[in-house]
Amino acid sequence: MDVHEMKERFIRLGEVFEDQASLLTELDRAIGDGDHGVNMLRGFQALPSKLNDSSMAELFKSIGMTLMSQVGGASGPLYGFSFVKMAQVVHDEIDRANLKEILQAFSDAVAQRGKVTLNEKTMFDVIERARQAVAEDQTVSLKRLQSFADETKEIEATKGRAAYFKEESLGHIDPGAQSSVYILNALIGDE
Ligand code: ADP
Ligand code: MG
Repeated sequence: MDVHEMKERFIRLGEVFEDQASLLTELDRAIGDGDHGVNMLRGFQALPSKLNDSSMAELFKSIGMTLMSQVGGASGPLYGFSFVKMAQVVHDEIDRANLKEILQAFSDAVAQRGKVTLNEKTMFDVIERARQAVAEDQTVSLKRLQSFADETKEIEATKGRAAYFKEESLGHIDPGAQSSVYILNALIGDE
């Protein structure tokens, strides 16, 4: 996977967020303030003009800086910081070994910035489970990623706005877990 292919994946990801914005908004309306779809769309619509493809590290850094400044909410700084941290470990040619390091950096960044652990009903649940599965050389398809997000339905939220909903957060997919499905699918690229 070279820098041009990764850039293409992130441009295509913008189209995914266009298609999924209303779903993300609906999820965030149930257990948040209903802005997650708009937040993610704003970030990814800004991306194409901001991407720096002079190296993989610069590409990831430019994604991080754009998400940090454009997405807003709780998720913008978390995703933004994560891409800046991933930029520190990416190689110009990403192979499976490098992908493992990248997902480790993603998971560490969210854990650190969000002060979050597993089963708090956040994006971290999907990111950390994807990290584990790739570390164990499993195939991590879009369907598999979706199953990780679906599992957040069973969890009561203890972080972010959703925590105010307490047990009423049960039965709903966490919006950040859902947006992480698309981001991880772009990074991992398994069918
Ligand atoms: P806001 O909650 O400020 O409106 P968004 O709606 O854009 O921001 O994002 C909400 C998502 O952010 C949640 O669904 C959750 O996945 C994620 N999130 C919120 N707080 C944390 C945290 N402390 N750690 C990890 N993820 C978090
Ligand atoms: Mg919100």
